[in-house]
Amino acid sequence: MQRDTAIFDLIGKELHRQREGIELIASENFTSAQVIEAMGSCLTNKYAEGLPGKRYYGGCEIVDQVETLAIERIKKLFGAVWANVQPHSGAQANAAVMLACLKPGDKLLGFNLSHGGHLSHGSPVNLSGKIYQPFHYNVEQETGRVDMNKVREIAIKERPKLIICGASAYSRDWDYATFRAIADEVGAVLLADIAHPAGLIAAKLLNDPIPHCHIITTTTHKTLRGPRGGLIMIGKDGENPFGEKTLKGELKSLSAVLDAAVFPGTQGGPLEHVIAAKAVAFGEALTDEFVAYQVQVKKNAHALAEAMTAKDYKIISGGTDNHMMLIDLRNKNISGKQAENALVKADITANKNMVPYDDKSPFVTSGIRLGTPAITTRGMKEKDMAQIAAWIDRLVVDIENEGTIAKVKGEVNEYMKQFPLYEK
Ligand SMILES: *Cc1c(COP(=O)(O)O)cnc(C)c1O
Repeated sequence: MQRDTAIFDLIGKELHRQREGIELIASENFTSAQVIEAMGSCLTNKYAEGLPGKRYYGGCEIVDQVETLAIERIKKLFGAVWANVQPHSGAQANAAVMLACLKPGDKLLGFNLSHGGHLSHGSPVNLSGKIYQPFHYNVEQETGRVDMNKVREIAIKERPKLIICGASAYSRDWDYATFRAIADEVGAVLLADIAHPAGLIAAKLLNDPIPHCHIITTTTHKTLRGPRGGLIMIGKDGENPFGEKTLKGELKSLSAVLDAAVFPGTQGGPLEHVIAAKAVAFGEALTDEFVAYQVQVKKNAHALAEAMTAKDYKIISGGTDNHMMLIDLRNKNISGKQAENALVKADITANKNMVPYDDKSPFVTSGIRLGTPAITTRGMKEKDMAQIAAWIDRLVVDIENEGTIAKVKGEVNEYMKQFPLYEK
C-alpha cells in the first residue's frame, strides 16, 4: 500500500502548530510519547465487548490484562473501589451514568452551561436535556461563585433524581460534602464530573469527591494528561438505589448497573488501544513527577490570574483555585470572539467562552477561558505567565492591528523554541 501522504503531511503540520504556539485551552494537554505509542498500537484491531474475564469474543487474554492494569491503576490513583475505563469520552461516561440512574422524563439538576457547566449536564441540544428533564443552578452575579443555599432551594423544590456537580469553566473548588447532604435530603444520587480538575484532585491539591459522591466521571485527556477518553468510578459499592434486579430477583450492585450502562447500554466494543494508553497515563499519574507537575499547573494558573488582574482584566470570582480562569472582557470593549481570533492569529490558542449573565450569544460571547495544563507540560513556570499576559494585553488593546499580531506571533514562535515537544 502506498503511504497516505495527504494525511501524514497534515499530521506533520499539526505537530508543527502544536510546537510553535502557546496552548492556553484549559481542556487540552500534551500526552507523553509512550501514551501516543500505546494508542497507535495493534490493540485497535481487537474486539473485546464485555469486561476482563467476561468477553463476548475469543482471543482477549492479553487485552484483559491491559484493561485490568488500567482499572487497578486508576483505582489506586483515586482510592476508588471500582472503575469502568471503557467510556469513549467524558460525554459518553455521563450518558452511561444517566442511563443507569434515570428513566426518560426523570429530573436532573446540574450547573448552568452558560455559567460554566457542560453540555452533557442537561443542555437542550444534548441527549441529557432531550431525554431527561433538566434543572440548573447558577453562580451569583456579585461573587461569581455557586451559592449552596440556592442549590439546596432548587433541589428541595424540584426533587431531582440526579444531582451533578462539576464544570468546564469554573475556577473554584467544589463543596462535595454539602452537595451530598443536599442529595441525601432529597433522595438524589450525586454525580461529580471532574473532567477538568481530575489531575489536581489525583494529586490531592483540591477537595476529594470520592468519599462524598455516589458516582464520579472524568475525561482522561485534560489535567489527567492521558489519551482522549472517559471513565466512571465509585468510592463505595453496594446495592443499587434504582431497584435494578438480577434474573434471580436480587438487587444488583451499583457497579454492575454502571457496567451494564456502558456496555451494552450506550457503547459497543471498547477501544483497547486507548485503554492501554489510559493505563500508561495512570501509571505516570502515580509518580511524584506528576504531583510536582500538578503543583506547577496550579502555581502557573495563580500567576497568570495575578498578571492578568494587574492589567485590569476581570476574572470571574476574582481568581482561581485550580488550573483555569474565565475572563470577562466587557470592560475592554471587545468580545470573546474578537479576542480569540486575534490570539489565534498570533499562535496563542484560547477559546471564547460565555461569562455568567452574558448578554452576547454563545458564538460571540463576552469572555475568554485560559488554562495552564498544556503550557505547564511544555515546561513553563511563573515568570513565563507574566510574558503571556503581556502578549495577550498587547493584542487586546490593539485588536485589529495586523502589524501587532504579526510581531507577537514572531515573538511567540521564537519563545516556544525553549520548550521542546516530542523531540527525539
Ligand atoms: C470536557 C468535559 C466533558 C466531556 O468530555 P468529552 O471527552 O469532550 O466528551 C464532560 N464534562 C465536563 C465537565 C467537561 O469539562
